[in-house]
Amino acid sequence: MASDQATIDPMSPERAADEVLRLAAGRVSQVRINRNRGMLLSLRGSRGAWRLSVHQDLLTLPGIPLEIVAWIRGEGRSVSPTLRQGLDQVMGLRARRARADLSRQAGAIPTLDGPLDLAAAAERIQAAWFAHLPRCPIDWGPRQSGGPRRRIRFGAYHRKPAHITINRLVDQPWVARIFVDYLLFHELCHHAQACTPLRGEPPHSPRFKSWERRFPGLDQALAWEKAHLDRFLGVGEPEPQP
Ligand SMILES: [Zn+2]
Repeated sequence: MASDQATIDPMSPERAADEVLRLAAGRVSQVRINRNRGMLLSLRGSRGAWRLSVHQDLLTLPGIPLEIVAWIRGEGRSVSPTLRQGLDQVMGLRARRARADLSRQAGAIPTLDGPLDLAAAAERIQAAWFAHLPRCPIDWGPRQSGGPRRRIRFGAYHRKPAHITINRLVDQPWVARIFVDYLLFHELCHHAQACTPLRGEPPHSPRFKSWERRFPGLDQALAWEKAHLDRFLGVGEPEPQP
């Protein structure tokens, strides 16, 4: 493997893809470079003829193509610390690009700039949009341990008794107000579902989505979330505070 290492770093995505294909021969039949998909690394198809899809930013990080080959040999089951670091790095890079796009498009998006008064925000959203429903108590979710996370549930709706919990992670001064309002709105749409139940309805049904689309600034809130997910996940580089 040592001689492979010398030839594989650093190079264009196309050459790196060819090298991965060569080194993983017999396991992978195709390497697809993706540039804009949400998925950074995936194996599809059947054993011996897997199709690998890999983001170009990941493929061109030094050392990563060989880590990907090792990952393929392990049938995609275990992610080495180096590969994990590469994934985190690309996720952080993508989020920073998304943030740059966002600020170009929308200018400054108002942030909390201080502690979040959850009760007041909940009251405001319920009164504005869900006044026709029985009031739904909204409170903070349980405290979680610190450190990097892989995925985050920002809010949850609980039935019997009906109540909503919001993740304490959103109580940070850099968080956009519109994102908090969106989370409350989303969970209150679940409350609206629970108040008029339909048998067998999935949580994010067409009815739910049509309600959710009424939230003004839905696209902006979702774009903000995408652009800041790495900060919530605890990856990427710390950014200077204003
Ligand atoms: Zn939901």
